[in-house]
Order: sequence, then structure tokens, then C-alpha cells
Amino acid sequence: MNSPILSESDKRIAIVGGGMTGMYVLKYLVEKELDRLYPEKHRTLADYAQDKGNLKSKDSPLKISLFEKSEHAGMPYSPAWVDGEHIVNIASDEAPALIVPMHEWLKEKFEHPSEDDKKWIKKYNIRAEQINDKTLFPRHVFQIYFHDQLNEIKKICDTMGIGLDLPEKTEVMDATLETGVRGPQVRLKIKNKEDKDSQYEVIVDKAILATGHKWPIKDDTEHGIYSTPWPSRKLKQIKNQHIGIKGSSLTAIDATFSLAHAHGKFERNASGELEYSPNEGTESFDVTMYSRNGVLPHLRFNFQFPYLKIHRYVSKDSLEKAKDKDGFIPLDFFLERYRQVMQQYQKEGYYPGVSEYFDPQPYRDVFFESLNLDSWESFAHSVMEKSKQRGIQQSLEKRLAFHKTDTTSHWEEVFDDIAYVLSFNAQYLSAEDRLKYQQTIKPLVAYITGFLPPDSAEKLQALMKAGKLKVCSLVGKAAGDDDPRHVVVREENGTTKVHRFDVTIDALGQEVIPLDKFPFKGLQEHIQSPRFRFKDRKTAEELDIRCQAAGQPSPIEFTANGTQPAAYLRMDGVAVDDQFRLKGKDSPIEAIYDLSIPHINSNYPYHPGLPFCNHAGEIVAESVMQSLFQSQGRSQKIARAH
Ligand SMILES: Cc1cc2nc3c(=O)[nH]c(=O)nc-3n(C[C@H](O)[C@H](O)[C@H](O)COP(=O)(O)OP(=O)(O)OC[C@H]3O[C@@H](n4cnc5c(N)ncnc54)[C@H](O)[C@@H]3O)c2cc1C
Repeated sequence: MNSPILSESDKRIAIVGGGMTGMYVLKYLVEKELDRLYPEKHRTLADYAQDKGNLKSKDSPLKISLFEKSEHAGMPYSPAWVDGEHIVNIASDEAPALIVPMHEWLKEKFEHPSEDDKKWIKKYNIRAEQINDKTLFPRHVFQIYFHDQLNEIKKICDTMGIGLDLPEKTEVMDATLETGVRGPQVRLKIKNKEDKDSQYEVIVDKAILATGHKWPIKDDTEHGIYSTPWPSRKLKQIKNQHIGIKGSSLTAIDATFSLAHAHGKFERNASGELEYSPNEGTESFDVTMYSRNGVLPHLRFNFQFPYLKIHRYVSKDSLEKAKDKDGFIPLDFFLERYRQVMQQYQKEGYYPGVSEYFDPQPYRDVFFESLNLDSWESFAHSVMEKSKQRGIQQSLEKRLAFHKTDTTSHWEEVFDDIAYVLSFNAQYLSAEDRLKYQQTIKPLVAYITGFLPPDSAEKLQALMKAGKLKVCSLVGKAAGDDDPRHVVVREENGTTKVHRFDVTIDALGQEVIPLDKFPFKGLQEHIQSPRFRFKDRKTAEELDIRCQAAGQPSPIEFTANGTQPAAYLRMDGVAVDDQFRLKGKDSPIEAIYDLSIPHINSNYPYHPGLPFCNHAGEIVAESVMQSLFQSQGRSQKIARAH
């Protein structure tokens, strides 16, 4: 696809970024194109994969390129970024399949392995009894699965006449808008990373940016300062030191495991308990995770509905009806729906979940009778407080015991679902509600929906028992000490202590980028950052005054909405609409979609990984196909339920 010239009938699509988001976009484009070519059959890619050869290929005008600057499957699964001991936090029955579910694919590989398969099956110690839809496998194994499935999609495209190329080590350097005879198009500047002279350009009808995670590396390793744990192999150079990790989320836990494996080993004792044995000469090695609340993510439980759906509890229809005359959906609408669902489960006799949060009685009442923004705030606060009071070790024990009961924790599972549908509709919140979300919903989303794998919880316990790990809450910096390695923390026993770490690692997770850091400079003048309108201008004025008094830059923008004065809250990132099209100054840019996490997180504030990549991919593929084929007046059958 290295010619800028388009043939009349071609419809060219570029997906920029071959991580899982890009791959799900590809999956749905292919699936919808097959639906369009064979309208008499509604088949899945798995059916086409089996049927190859029996179906007569038709000519497809689609020419798709999936550009990847390193290797396909993306950051969290790649040995270039993560270690062999890092496992996914999603089981096969929760991970949307590209063609076949992970455990079915693995079973087939296990029973009929090639010579290459035998090597990785041995390396990752895959055993027959593990292969089921509930096991959490190493991230590297997921990468092998994703690569394999991508090759299968390529074979389907080759047989069915859809143009697909999958360039790796090929970076899209920039993008600009063009107006061709066929409407808006995008010119991409492309470079093959292995051949410095190979710059070329292509013009496409649609470009889908799926460039994923960005970890700006600003390490000062000489002084033991790491701005991110990624790529994790760099942590292996840290030897026998007192290490502080900023954060206590799954990222911080991954970093802890990389360090722990480099300094010792995990083994089960005769009674089956996991223990950590440090290597000789590693006496000074220990890790302290510190975060604002000093708590670990909630442990996984057995989901009633493992597969996340956007509209499980909140229908499209009810969302439309919830919009007020200005198009806002109140945050209270989502909490009220949450309360109704929980009340229904209670009536049906389901257990809400780990009991500590539902006793004493007032919390039960909040949940089942009067959940709204105010009561939610005190509930959210109490969840954090109770976790802190109980202490990390005891919390882990209690939750591991709960996990073994095979019960669903409904209040957490339903919360996950509600937070998910809310994320897909956050752009309809007023600025007032968007700020409330940030203060009261977001911290709990991060805490509850991390879903720590039980194996990881056992490892953390083993490290704590061996005296190699502490989890503390951050108090701040010691007065007059600006060394980033030195912090004041509150330990579990309540004492406040200054820690002077030899090494500090920032594991706070993915940040949203400011608009001026948007990587495709050729689009810069056309795009804008996300903004949320205030219902009440006075609230905006007060906030603006408070920012000015504190000497902080104000995120408030005062402008006119038609003839009415209006005020907006500006946030970082880039604005996209509900089909993920970049928002131009006046209207969506039809030819460019953006699904990249650090760009869209203000508009879509909860991104639970693969389910989001999948659903967003489907929405984009549907929008692309509608837009490309609507003018042909053909009968289409490209819409599938999300
Ligand atoms: C450490 C970590 C662990 C995670 N673990 C899980 C998990 O267990 N389960 C889960 O569901 N989710 C997990 N997630 C969430 C994760 O975000 C998603 O699962 C998903 O893989 C993200 O995919 P992506 O394609 O959006 O981004 P990425 O995986 O970052 O992929 C983006 C790709 O785009 C490429 N690229 C970037 N710029 C260009 C360019 N200009 N030209 C060409 N190519 C480009 C990159 O090389 C990369 O391969 C994890 C996230 C992190 C950070």
C-alpha cells in the first residue's frame, strides 16, 4: 500500500497501531465487510475460518493496512515491555475473542503442538489441567495467541478477496487532512524503521489512530530514579536495594514482581502455602509501595456475567430518555440505576458481596434505598476507610477466602458494569458532574475494578511475610528535602516515617496527554481538547476565582453558546465524539478516528482493557463501514449488537 494514488473503487483504511485496539477494529471491519458481501449469511469469523475454500470469493473494495511501529499485539503482552512472570488480569471467558476464545485455541495447540508451540508451552509451564476459561495466563502467551489469530484473519482476507497488509516496524509519522473528489481523506507519512530511506506517503479514506500507551522515559538511573517501570527488564539492573514504588495499583504490583523474581524465588511449602525465599546477598532488598490511600486493588471474584457489555443494565433507550433539554445525562441517573439493579438482586435473594461494606445498617440503606451523589460520596469514603482499618494482610486473607466461596460480589460486579456504561456516555455529563465523577467515582473505579488475580495476591502475601514488602499511605515530602527518593509515609501500624529509598519507581499508570503533545502535528490545528459545559455559569466563575487565588492555571473557558454566555471545563487529551471521530472546531472530522488511551481518557474515563478495546473497535468499524458504503444505496447488513 505504498502508492498515494487511489483507484476509483478502492476504499482504503489505515489502522495506526497494531495493539489490541487496532486488532479489534480490524476484526470488526472484516466481519462487517463479509456480512456486506454475503448478506444471506450472518457468520462469525470462526465460521469463515472453517469454511475457507468452500465459499466463492467476491471482490471487495476494502484495502486495509494495520501499521505497527514495533510488533503486533501491543505493549502489555510484548516481551519487549513486560516480563514472563506478569499475568493478565482477564480470563478467557472475559476476553473478547478475535476468532476463537483463548482457552479453545490453547487446547488445540496443546493437543496438536508444532515444534515452536512445544517450546513456549514448556517455557511458560502450561499444563493440561490449567486450560479452561477461568485461568489467568502469562501476558506473553496472550501475545502468541493474538499473533496466531491475526494470521488467521489475514488468511480469511486473502481467501475472501479483502485487501489486508500488516506492516510491522513501520511507523506512521504524521497525518494531514486532504479534500479529494471522494470527500475528506487523510495523507499519512510513513517510515519503515529498519530502512531509514524508506519514507513514503499514502492517502486513505479513513485513518483510525490506535497508538495506545505512551510511557515517556525520563529515568535518571544513576541516581535510582525511574519515571516508569516500563520496559520492565530495566528493573533487573536494580540490585539489593531499598526500593520505593509510587502507586499500589496493578502496575506497581507488576513492578514489584519483576524485582522480587530478580532477588529470589516463590515456592510452595509442604502444606501448600506459597513462600518467598530471597537469594543470598539480597538482605538489603525490599519494596515499599506508597499511594494516597495505601490500599491494594480489590481481589477478583467469580463474575456472574464474565463478559462486560455496555448496555447490560442501562439501555440505549433509557440513556436517550435521561437526557435533559440541554443534552446532559445526570450522574445521578447512573447511580439511581445502580441502586435499582442492586435492589433487584437483593429481592432475588442474591448476596451483595463482601459484607464489611454493608454493615452497619446505614450502608445497606444507602445501597438499596437512597443511592445518590451525596450518599455515594460517604459510601465511597467508607469503603476506603474500612480497607485501611482492616490492614493489607487481613484484607487479602478475607478476600482470598471469599474468592474460594465461588460467590459473586454483586455490588462490585454491578459497579463495574455501571462504570463501564457511564464511561461510554461521560461526554454527556455537565462540567459539574464531570468534576464530581473525578472526585468520587474515579478513585473507586481504580480501586475496585483493578481485579487483582488471586495468584498475585498470594505472591504479595508471601513477600510481606518474608519482610520484603510494605504497602503504606503517602503523607508527603519532608520539609526542605526535595530528593524524589525521599517521602513521608504512614505505615500500617499508624506510625509516620520518613523513607529514604535508594531507588524510586513511578508506577502511577497511564496519564492523559495535553493537546500540544498530540503526536500527529499535521492535525494539530484542526482538533481540540475535550470540554464539558457548565450548567450554571456561577459555579464556573467561582472555580475560576479559586484557581486564580491559588495561582493555578484555570481550566475554565468562558464563551458564548449561540447568543447565550456559556462556560466550559477544559480537560487534557483530544476530544472525540461517540463514534470516536476526532472533534474538529465545528463538527467531527469524518475521516479520522482516535481510540488511543492517553488521548481519549477525559472523554472515556474508565478503560478496563480488552473489553473496551473490543467494544470501541466495533463502534468504530460500524461507523467506518456506514460512512464508506452509505452512498452506494446497497442493502446493508453491517450492524451487530454491541
Ligand atoms: C502493563 C499493562 C498491563 C495490562 N494488562 C491488561 C490485562 O491483563 N487485561 C486487560 O484487559 N487489559 C490490560 N491492560 C490494558 C490495556 O490497555 C489493553 O488491554 C490493551 O492491550 C491496550 O491496547 P492498545 O492497542 O490500545 O494499546 P497498546 O497495547 O499500547 O498498542 C498500541 C500499539 O500502537 C503502536 N504504535 C504507537 N504509535 C504508532 C505509530 N505512530 N505508528 C505505528 N504504530 C504505532 C505501538 O507500538 C503499540 O503496539 C494493561 C495495560 C498495561 C499498561
